[in-house]
Amino acid sequence: MNVIELRDIGMTFTDREEPTIALKNVNLTIAKGEFIAIIGPSGSGKSTLMNVLGLLDVASSGEYYLDDELVSNFRDGELAKLRREKIGFVFQSFNLLPRLTVVQNVELPLVYNGLRAKQRRARALELLSLVGLYERANFKPRQISGGQTQRVAIARALANHPSLILADEPTGNLDTKSSKAIIDELRRLNRETGATIVIVTHNPEIAEQTDRTVTVRDGEIVSDTATKASKKSTKKTAAKTAAPTAIPDVKPPVPGTVINPKPRRRKVAL
Ligand code: ADP
Ligand code: MG
Repeated sequence: MNVIELRDIGMTFTDREEPTIALKNVNLTIAKGEFIAIIGPSGSGKSTLMNVLGLLDVASSGEYYLDDELVSNFRDGELAKLRREKIGFVFQSFNLLPRLTVVQNVELPLVYNGLRAKQRRARALELLSLVGLYERANFKPRQISGGQTQRVAIARALANHPSLILADEPTGNLDTKSSKAIIDELRRLNRETGATIVIVTHNPEIAEQTDRTVTVRDGEIVSDTATKASKKSTKKTAAKTAAPTAIPDVKPPVPGTVINPKPRRRKVAL
């Protein structure tokens, strides 16, 4: 089954003098249980793509099927419901709330699901154990390291048992060792829960540890390849010998047809 099917997705931002074509002709199918990396230069449209996938933005044109349901015409309320039910976000823009403790941050998405306080706490602690941070439950975010913060973000993203996890540069500010721990964590969750995971990264070594790498350039998908490491086991050496994916030459952007020239910005409910 396909979790995601994008057909001819385009995204044009018109809020500046010059319209920006952030995505064009994007066709992408992701099957259930895939662990996939999206790579590409800064400004190539990766985050825009993630926002579309995460139902945080509606594309200007094209169709998006999530679990075989056409969601590109859904209203805000319906999109918010789907986000809560299906998607876990590990985005830098959704930072932990500094005044809440680690465990309270993880509990946050559960508030919307009608769980009682005791159940929420139990679930949040279970998630913190899963990412190895049970003993940090009552710390404040400023009292833990960058790598630990990202692991809390992963725990929070998992709170509602999402079938799709979206991570936008989750290892962006981390050292190699912490990055590796995050990726290992995501890989383990992928294996153990069957969750589909899409991760944006700048790091070719990280991309090599996923099953498939999609390269975006100037708003277009320019390559989509199975990753060599996907055939190997989780051995720690798997990524070391891998070379970065080659990026073929691309045509300069051509303005496309804009059906909905003013994409709506969405309020985020975690
Ligand atoms: P990446 O994540 O690959 O660095 P982005 O998806 O953030 O790239 O951005 C792609 C392009 O779209 C950039 O040129 C960026 O300036 C532009 N862009 C992204 N979001 C907006 C927005 N809300 N309004 C206007 N332009 C935007
Ligand atoms: Mg980005």
